[in-house]
Amino acid sequence: SSANRATLEYENAREKVAQFLNSDTKEIVFTKGTTEGINMVASSFVRDNFSKVIITPLEHHANIVPWHLAGFDKESLLVCDIDEDLQIDLRSFERLVQKNPHSFVSIIHVSNSFGVVTPIEKMTEIAHKHHCTVLVDGAQSVAHFPIDVEKIGCDFFLFSGHKIFAPTGVGVLYGRYELLERMDPYQGGGAMIEDVSFEKSTFLEPPLKFEAGTTNIAGVIALGRALEYVQQVGFENISKQEQTLKNYFSKRLHQVAGVRIYNDPSVAIFSFGVDGIHFSDIAILLDKQNIQIRAGHHCNMPLMKKLGIQGTIRASLSFYNTTSEIDAFFTALNKALQMLKD
Ligand code: PLP
Repeated sequence: SSANRATLEYENAREKVAQFLNSDTKEIVFTKGTTEGINMVASSFVRDNFSKVIITPLEHHANIVPWHLAGFDKESLLVCDIDEDLQIDLRSFERLVQKNPHSFVSIIHVSNSFGVVTPIEKMTEIAHKHHCTVLVDGAQSVAHFPIDVEKIGCDFFLFSGHKIFAPTGVGVLYGRYELLERMDPYQGGGAMIEDVSFEKSTFLEPPLKFEAGTTNIAGVIALGRALEYVQQVGFENISKQEQTLKNYFSKRLHQVAGVRIYNDPSVAIFSFGVDGIHFSDIAILLDKQNIQIRAGHHCNMPLMKKLGIQGTIRASLSFYNTTSEIDAFFTALNKALQMLKD
């Protein structure tokens, strides 16, 4: 029946994801996105089992606010340092985990604002040396390079479908099986139970234990297809094209008069400002030329505060972009800047 086919395809997508991350289907939980996954881990696992959470200054709000909600505060949510190029200061990170062993370490993999790639394998190794548990927010990394959770060595890895060409409202939480077993269900309802009486309920094994109610079946199947597409294109081709685009964009960006560049990104995500001009004004004038960029704090308010700015203009590139689109972007940007300076 078509209902059976839907179930089959849903579970096929789980297999696809498991293979994509080099993990096992038992360790793949479907969520509605990275945000939901982090909230799930925070409220169902970390709140009751850890007294400290360690993060980096590069975190998206999705990896800050759930910790506040789970009761972590100034004393228990600890932040390592970054250097002037916005790279993780590994010595400060090591000091922090050494001083706070058995903590929960939650780290962004690629900065959504500045394209910084964190040294995730090294950080995981350091964290594990001090008996910490490690979550990696892979929202911005999955679409750019292959992910191997075994090789990274992390305990949790999360991403969102829409960052890798799938629809919105679907995401993945990978968790090491023995941790998923220890973790409480996040929500209760149908599809996740083994037995229910009026007195009590017992639950299915992971991952189903975490998939209460009717899930985003169509979204999950589409995510499986999107991953197939990415594998067909191939990360080698993706990376080659992204490097070409990144170098070209960077060269053009450095030629813009008065431009403020904060770092040399590893992934083609460019954040910049222009002296004396507000980012919102540039965004509006670009929009009028049919170019939509994001301007503002990009859900990184603490980082912007640390840099002493309110926000940036951000342009990010993917393998499907072309150098002529970059030319069109800079023509529009230069026109906007000319108008604002006049
Ligand atoms: N983490 C990072 C690094 C992100 O860039 C984003 C989204 O922009 C998120 C987490 C949150 O993802 P979602 O809104 O899909 O839950």
